[in-house]
Amino acid sequence: MSNKKTPPPPTLPPSFTVSDNLCLFHKGDLSEDIYTCPKCKTIYCLKCAIKAQTDRKSCVKCKQIVLL
Ligand SMILES: [Zn+2]
Ligand SMILES: [Zn+2]
Repeated sequence: MSNKKTPPPPTLPPSFTVSDNLCLFHKGDLSEDIYTCPKCKTIYCLKCAIKAQTDRKSCVKCKQIVLL
């Protein structure tokens, strides 16, 4: 008798969920005003982009400097 039970599917941590409406600078929902990276087209909040420019941070994905 083989009555195998299928194991429950592994639960992925929520951080693996990729959302198009996620700002990678503050890791939250995008606001209405957005900034698009000219190189990789990743979108960020405009306010985060302004802050990133002030802090001399670059794009999380392609390391392109934030230029507004
Ligand atoms: Zn980029
Ligand atoms: Zn943001």
